[in-house]
Amino acid sequence: MSEFERVTAYVGLGSNLEEPLSQVKEAETELAYLPDTDLTAVSSLYWTRPVGPADQPDFINAVAKISTQLPAEKLLDELQLLEQRHGRIREGVRWGPRTLDLDLLLYGDMTIDSPRLKVPHPYLSGRAFVLYPLSEIAADDLMIPGAGMLGDLLKEVSDDGIERID
Ligand code: ATP
Ligand code: MG
Ligand code: MG
Repeated sequence: MSEFERVTAYVGLGSNLEEPLSQVKEAETELAYLPDTDLTAVSSLYWTRPVGPADQPDFINAVAKISTQLPAEKLLDELQLLEQRHGRIREGVRWGPRTLDLDLLLYGDMTIDSPRLKVPHPYLSGRAFVLYPLSEIAADDLMIPGAGMLGDLLKEVSDDGIERID
């Protein structure tokens, strides 16, 4: 038995460079192989318009549900390692194009506010490309600490600019 309890966490995946569909699908498999972690659900994939600079390719986005014994900061380390393995270059404009973005959206019902990790993810509650896929794999009454119920947040965002892939 590990000293850490199992926690349900949600990870947002995004890519708009170098075969984004493959990048996201491969990353889902890699999440399943993280230490002390099980992949328990994945959303559909979505084509989404870029947030921020508009002169970049559309994104593929998805959300994954995991059950993990990794502490949150350690989980972030692992997510950043995966980003690096996908050739993510951390420079250039904010919200610019990237091969892979893995954001820790929720970690149980915890609120974390450290210099390198903020949970719930600060922009989660306003982003259609996160809320729609999340709603496929989480209940409407999921509480987002500090923001309210998932079902209520979903009513506030338009699904313009996102398209679910069958
Ligand atoms: P956004 O956070 O608006 O989606 P982004 O994903 O493009 O933008 P990144 O360049 O991937 O931003 O990450 C910038 C920094 O955000 C990282 O170095 C990381 O330490 C920090 N960070 C804070 N909270 C989180 C979180 N919940 N998940 C991932 N990274 C986070
Ligand atoms: Mg992001
Ligand atoms: Mg990120």
